[in-house]
Amino acid sequence: MLNLVLFGPPGAGKGTQSARLIEKYQLVHLSTGDILRGEIANGTPLGLEAKKLMDQGILVPDEVVIGMISNKLDSNPGAKGFIFDGFPRTKAQAAALDQLLSEKNTFINAMLALNVNDEELIQRLLSRGKDSGRPDDANPDIIRKRIEEYNAKTAPLIDYYKAQDKYTSIEGVGTVD
Ligand code: ADP
Repeated sequence: MLNLVLFGPPGAGKGTQSARLIEKYQLVHLSTGDILRGEIANGTPLGLEAKKLMDQGILVPDEVVIGMISNKLDSNPGAKGFIFDGFPRTKAQAAALDQLLSEKNTFINAMLALNVNDEELIQRLLSRGKDSGRPDDANPDIIRKRIEEYNAKTAPLIDYYKAQDKYTSIEGVGTVD
C-alpha cells in the first residue's frame, strides 16, 4: 500500500495536488473537510454541529474526525492506498491514524508538506471564496482564524512526522506541476 499525508495550511493547494497523486497512484482520497461538508449538505446532526465550528474557522473535535476516518478505512478494504487530505490536523489525530493503520498492518509512507506564505494563502482563499460558496472562504477574519488554528494545532505535526523520518517539504507556489 501507499499511504500519503498531504499537509499544509488552508489554501496551500492540497486538493489540487491530491487530484494528481490519486490519478498517478490510484489512491482513495480521504478529505475530512469534504466529508464534513457532505454531512452538512445532508443536514445530519453531526453536520449541523460541525457547521457551527467550521463557519468560525475552528477545528471540529478530534473524536468526530477520527471516527469518520476509521469508517472510511473500514469501507475501502481493497484500496491500493490512501491519501489523507486535511487530516490529521492535531497530534491526537496523527497518533490515532498511526494506530488505525497499524491495526490494518499498514502505515504512513510519507508526509508531503506544501509550503505557501500567509499573504498568498489569504489571496487564494478569498478568490476561491468568490465561486466555492464556502462561507469560511468569504471572510478575511475567518481565514485568519483558520491560519491561526493551523499554526497553533496543526503545524506541530511537522515535528511528529520528522521524528518518524517521513516529512518532505514541497514549494506550494509556482506552477501546479
Ligand atoms: P482548508 O484546508 O482550506 O481549511 P478543509 O476543507 O480541509 O479546508 O477544512 C475546512 C474546515 O473543516 C476546517 O476549518 C475545520 O473546521 C474542519 N476540519 C476539516 N478537517 C478537520 C480535521 N481533520 N480536524 C478538525 N477539523 C477539521
